[in-house]
Amino acid sequence: MLEVKDLVVSYGRVRAVKRISFAVEQGQVVSLLGTNGAGKTTTLRTVSGLHAPDAGEIWFDGERIDRLPAHKIVQRGLAHSPEGRRIFPRLTVVDNLMLGAFARRDRGAGADLARVYELFPILHERRHQPAGTFSGGEQQMLAIGRALMSRPRMLMLDEPSMGLSPLMMKRIMSTIAELKAEGVTILLVEQNASAALALADHGYVLEVGSIAFDDTGANLLSDDRVRRTYLGED
Ligand code: ATP
Repeated sequence: MLEVKDLVVSYGRVRAVKRISFAVEQGQVVSLLGTNGAGKTTTLRTVSGLHAPDAGEIWFDGERIDRLPAHKIVQRGLAHSPEGRRIFPRLTVVDNLMLGAFARRDRGAGADLARVYELFPILHERRHQPAGTFSGGEQQMLAIGRALMSRPRMLMLDEPSMGLSPLMMKRIMSTIAELKAEGVTILLVEQNASAALALADHGYVLEVGSIAFDDTGANLLSDDRVRRTYLGED
């Protein structure tokens, strides 16, 4: 469904992504792992059209998208829930959610709003409150809900568990599993490797802008290099 080929991305003279290639098949959860600065966020932002690549190709559903503007990419069914959530604190929950539907041409946002409220009942209970009054975990739910409002076929999540309590993290991870069961394809960037790999069909490990290795989620979870570097084991 998504294919990234030989992608190179720079910030001025700093090369953040150095010829990486990876693929996400329809219905899969794929995890991108890596330490701080490995290039995970840059990769997602480039796939979303928020950053222009220096070289390489990005294909989504058989169409080349690396020269398209971000709103055209959302319209094709690829949504992004960014790092740090980027919600609008003064707007209400429902207004934040409706912003996620802006790129749609149809008027079916009501059904999607109902589905987001079903996934995250707290968003319904507090729909008229300013989003800035929410806890970190609630803001994360809102960011995922907002991405779902574009009715994506594929969702990219950038560190959804960042700053969350273990309980809230479990909740977010089970939501990701639920979305997968509904047929949403997911590209998941996480520092929490054990949670991300437990869900992943496939994982790629990025090290300073390159893919160091990749394998099934289960194989990576038992790989010594992953266990030492990302799970803190000796
Ligand atoms: P983190 O988990 O810390 O967000 P990451 O794997 O997502 O890390 P990126 O944020 O993609 O990594 O950063 C990759 C590299 O690009 C880093 O060396 C970073 O310092 C650099 N970089 C990121 N954003 C910019 C920017 N706006 N200007 C200059 N350099 C940047």
